[in-house]
Amino acid sequence: MSGLAFQYSRAADTGDALTQASRPDTAFLAGGTDLLQLWKAGVVAPAGVVDISRLPLDQMEFVDGRLCLGALARLSDVADHPDVTRYHPLIASAILASASGQIRNMATVGGNLLQRTRCWYFRSDGLACNKRNPGSGCGALAGENRQAALFGASASCVATHASDMAVALTALDAEVEVLGRAGQRRFPLRDLYRLPGETPERETNLAAGELVTGIHVANASRFAARSTYLKVRDRASFEFAIVSVAAVLRIENGRIVEAGLAAGGVAPLPWRLTSSEAVLLGSAPDAGVIAAAGEMAVEHARPLARNGFKVALLRNAVIRALQTIGGQP
Ligand code: SF4
Repeated sequence: MSGLAFQYSRAADTGDALTQASRPDTAFLAGGTDLLQLWKAGVVAPAGVVDISRLPLDQMEFVDGRLCLGALARLSDVADHPDVTRYHPLIASAILASASGQIRNMATVGGNLLQRTRCWYFRSDGLACNKRNPGSGCGALAGENRQAALFGASASCVATHASDMAVALTALDAEVEVLGRAGQRRFPLRDLYRLPGETPERETNLAAGELVTGIHVANASRFAARSTYLKVRDRASFEFAIVSVAAVLRIENGRIVEAGLAAGGVAPLPWRLTSSEAVLLGSAPDAGVIAAAGEMAVEHARPLARNGFKVALLRNAVIRALQTIGGQP
């Protein structure tokens, strides 16, 4: 067989996975729900894959209310887990909104976080796309940009990030754990992702061959009664977000003492709404404060020719989410 033959291998353990992934142009394969789509569409064509689906990275552990998810935990198992639905309902809601039951049964936590953009130009052959073919231009910038970003885009790329779960995890200040040949590291999930700048083909801060192994979420049970994931999409059954909002509040003596807000479908990464959070802290969740939080969410929006409707949609989604969880218990 020629040296160019496609190479499939199954990793025996994580060390073996890293060794095998050091071969040039080799991809990790887990649930395959995004990789195989991209492969069929001709977006990627790895020289080999390392099947990691049988590695023991599917744990779902609760320690003093903290949630530790292995990167290979299936989305359906996470969303159905009684401790997730009880103590981290925001995560369960985002997962249930994210895909069909069939996809949730196959897709993994790590794969969901690393899924590629749904930009039509990126997933279609022969169109200008700097992310797919660096230097070819961005077809969406002056073309069909209804789905494009309001924040964080560049002249090179205006695509949005597609993961619902990442939006919920961002609102909860989750951390990601990765393993590479240089060892293990753990850092805030928001630092996993990169803005496109002039290199939109690089979407994460993972080093070559580094493997996402898990997610850590601090005890979020204090938010359990006041959390919501609101997703606006073109069809209710199954679709990626046009705009989504993950929101959690903690209220004491009628005042908001903690707030976590993040938006999806509006930026190249899960977009934390820090200005809206600042408006809320210390205030009663009345109509005026909630409206101000909605305004702050869109303060720096930079719409393109066809996605201006997203500005009002995001403002109203933030208001609706806060109205939903801001009332008296
Ligand atoms: Fe490609 Fe990004 Fe432009 Fe879409 S927005 S065409 S992904 S460069």
